Amino acid sequence: MRNGICPKCRSKNIYMRKNGIQVGENSGGVFVHTSTMTRVTPIEAYICVDCGYFENFITDAAKLMEVSQTWTKVEPMAFDMDDL
Ligand SMILES: [Zn+2]
Repeated sequence: MRNGICPKCRSKNIYMRKNGIQVGENSGGVFVHTSTMTRVTPIEAYICVDCGYFENFITDAAKLMEVSQTWTKVEPMAFDMDDL
């Protein structure tokens, strides 16, 4: 979706905004729980204005490293064209 194409409907009407999706209480970003002291993590939000599909990306490399050390890894299964 970062390439400007919707992975669901193939639309090229994709819009991005920093912290465009709010999940944290008073600010943008999301709470990604990797420890008991979790601060809000900024996100990049992408929305397809044709089908409404949206994706969020965490861009904080340190947070992504924490996730890889504390979350359960999902093993890849069958190849899915929708994920391209
Ligand atoms: Zn779409």
